[in-house]
Amino acid sequence: MAPAPPTIDDVRAAQQRLEGLVVTTPTTAYPELDRRVRARGSAGTSVVVKHENLQHTGAFKVRGALNLVRRGRGIEHGVVAYSTGNHAQALAYASAAAGVPCTIVMPRDPNPVKERAVRDRGAEVVLHGADLGEAAVHARSIADRRGARLVSAGDEPELVAGVATATVELLEQAPELDTLVVPVGGGSGAAAACLVTAALAPHVEVVGVQSSAAPAAHDSWRSGALRTRPVRTRAEGLAVGCGFALTQTVLLQHLADFLLVDDEAITEAQHAYLTAARTVAEGAGAAALAAVLSFPDRFAGRRVGVVCSGGNAREEELLRALTCDAAGAAA
Ligand SMILES: *Cc1c(COP(=O)(O)O)cnc(C)c1O
Repeated sequence: MAPAPPTIDDVRAAQQRLEGLVVTTPTTAYPELDRRVRARGSAGTSVVVKHENLQHTGAFKVRGALNLVRRGRGIEHGVVAYSTGNHAQALAYASAAAGVPCTIVMPRDPNPVKERAVRDRGAEVVLHGADLGEAAVHARSIADRRGARLVSAGDEPELVAGVATATVELLEQAPELDTLVVPVGGGSGAAAACLVTAALAPHVEVVGVQSSAAPAAHDSWRSGALRTRPVRTRAEGLAVGCGFALTQTVLLQHLADFLLVDDEAITEAQHAYLTAARTVAEGAGAAALAAVLSFPDRFAGRRVGVVCSGGNAREEELLRALTCDAAGAAA
């Protein structure tokens, strides 16, 4: 059974726990970005960007990891996770700051940049398995052997409560929003946004976005049952192959809509961030903007907050974004 979702009181407690430990990231409007969005046919739309790409470790996930580690439940013998990306960096960062041993299992042949980043933060990296599924099995056996806490990427209320602090900030920074667009992998960020808006700003609709090349959470939400789907997206933060019970429960209750964008649209949104907002977004970080650019009618006339969830883009990814055929985006 899935653990119960956090309450708004849990989110407030997380906010206090994280005070001084996370960046209060800016929420920014860009006239040129609004022009691009309107050029796609979205009349009267205005966009503000919540800049979690400027968060410690370059992604919003560190809010959740810090909340979990600072709370300290069940981590006397350390934490273990399986991840190729930002979840690993976030846990390594939070553990190092608290002096808690951290082990990350990555599939063989990981992205060397991310592997190094995790090692640099003092975590132990174990390379095991051909994919994340095999790494997960190994991570569980390590955690069992050591009595350490295995930290899932989707079914962890403390992660959801921690990342929810980003939405609390955003609602204070941009009180006029109609719609909040959030990228979805395992669904923690979107579930957090749902819980916070439901409690503090119920008139704000939350829209989830996933890559059509890894639609597990989307398909789970549409069908009301946990689905497993192939992962073919380039966007690492969205490369999740199954729906999670905790986050899906929240999304089923509160999410207004769930959109899919393809990887090309994500690359075009990275282009728009680079050229219209002086912003480096990784693929997952650009997915929310990709949805606004791809579905102009859906967002016409609305004041939209897009979560730029991370900025850890690789060099070849940025080159692809800069040289992509974004004629429509640049019109
Ligand atoms: C993990 C991640 C996501 C997806 O977040 P979930 O909480 O897993 O849905 C989106 N963007 C970035 C940059 C991420 O690292």
